[in-house]
Amino acid sequence: MQLYQEQTLKITNSLTGKKEIFKPINEGHVGMYVCGPTVYSNVHLGNCRTFMSFDMIFRYLRHLGYKVRYVRNITDAGHLEDDADTGEDKIAKKARLEKIEPMEVVQRYTVDFHYILDQFNFLPPSIEPTATGHIIEQLAIIKDILEKGYAYEVNGSVYFDVKKFNEQYEYGKLSGRKLEDMIANTRELAAQSEKKNPQDFALWKKAEPQHIMRWPSPWGDGFPGWHLECTAMSTKYLGETFDIHGGGMDLKFPHHECEIAQAEASNGHSPVNYWMHANMLTMNGKKMAKSTGNNILPGEMFSGENDILSKPFTPPVVRFFMMQAHYTSILDLSNDALLASEKGYHRLMDAFDNLKDLEPGETSDFDIREWRQKCYDAMNDDFNTPILIAHLFEAVKHINLIKEGKEKISAPDKALLLKTMTDFICDVLGLEHKSESNHDTNKLQGVVELLIQLRNEARSNKDFATSDKIRDQLAAMGIQLKDGKEGTTFSVS
Ligand code: AMP
Ligand code: ZN
Repeated sequence: MQLYQEQTLKITNSLTGKKEIFKPINEGHVGMYVCGPTVYSNVHLGNCRTFMSFDMIFRYLRHLGYKVRYVRNITDAGHLEDDADTGEDKIAKKARLEKIEPMEVVQRYTVDFHYILDQFNFLPPSIEPTATGHIIEQLAIIKDILEKGYAYEVNGSVYFDVKKFNEQYEYGKLSGRKLEDMIANTRELAAQSEKKNPQDFALWKKAEPQHIMRWPSPWGDGFPGWHLECTAMSTKYLGETFDIHGGGMDLKFPHHECEIAQAEASNGHSPVNYWMHANMLTMNGKKMAKSTGNNILPGEMFSGENDILSKPFTPPVVRFFMMQAHYTSILDLSNDALLASEKGYHRLMDAFDNLKDLEPGETSDFDIREWRQKCYDAMNDDFNTPILIAHLFEAVKHINLIKEGKEKISAPDKALLLKTMTDFICDVLGLEHKSESNHDTNKLQGVVELLIQLRNEARSNKDFATSDKIRDQLAAMGIQLKDGKEGTTFSVS
């Protein structure tokens, strides 16, 4: 018996706007596709939030016993600066400015992406395909859509005919837009545009002579449109219809709307049963974004090197901060909010540590089974991590009371509590607990600073025997004190 057979998971489906009971296409198996990063710059914390929401979702599905095939792509071609099929390719532009190969740009930022996600303790996806590795599949879909009459070729480019598609299908159903309104709200098509309608989008773009990233096609040298890669890679690895498609809220339109149109035009049916959208991380109330400069890099969080931060924050603390908000809610980043999360994180982890050493009694004053189901109920309710965390703090309260001798816990209940805490804290929330080294570092720093203070007091009292003893014994442990104009600092060898 798997956990998913006992628990009823509900997911907010962006397509219907409703919370629906999750039923995968093949019992026991889940296919999930998440749009990955465009690797032309370092990921900022906003990008990390979306990927972390889906890492948590992947973790909970696995925890329930599903065999999950999780596909998260790397966009390494075709993403133009402007969503309306104009402007330079983001990667090619970076390559041109830095006078390096586009694939050097791709390599550099893919490595950075993996490095950052690893620090946040992400699980790797099952498949991480790239757009450039799937040009053949993309060409096949374009040919298919052309044959079915939902696309047209102009001067070496191929565009999706949204108006034609909308006669048979419904363009705009994911984002709740109506094509007629979109047409009414757009200005006349620019005279130089090749598109029949401004809503049409590129499946294939002709490469101008200066365009470096180019591939041969039946319509001449060019490159694929951005939306197409996700249709090609998701259906290749998960099938024509799969269970979950995710991404940030900002991808709903036009990206995901166009993915639906492409798949329906090509296969005749809907590609995805549950669309999931993660909400934005904001800073100063505004969306964190690369383009506006309103962003913070994960490395700046970990080093504290950013004006909005009073100190560094470790990756698990930042992860905990993110998990304290529901994935569909906006989350605003601030130093105060991070400080509060840090306190909460340590309170949770200290209790989790203390739990192992609790002396069991004959009976329990706290119903572990009922509490455990409350944790599952929270996660079953559209992955409600803030409610889950509130329940974990309920357990913290009891652990502290048991430690103080004011409550009891039986040995089997203690084992179940430990297992449940480990399942949710480590496996589901992904808060790494193996000797949380940064937490230890903070503690060490506090202790040495206290000893420095005691040594200073001894010196001002001319008690040199004590001050020397502190210095020498710390040195024997590999901690060197250094007296300077700014006071005493220390280093650990
Ligand atoms: P990109 O590399 O621009 O394609 O973005 C990668 C992912 O990050 C997408 O799923 C975006 O929706 C998501 N994203 C971008 N900005 C934010 C933000 N401020 N908060 C949360 N997710 C974001
Ligand atoms: Zn995508």
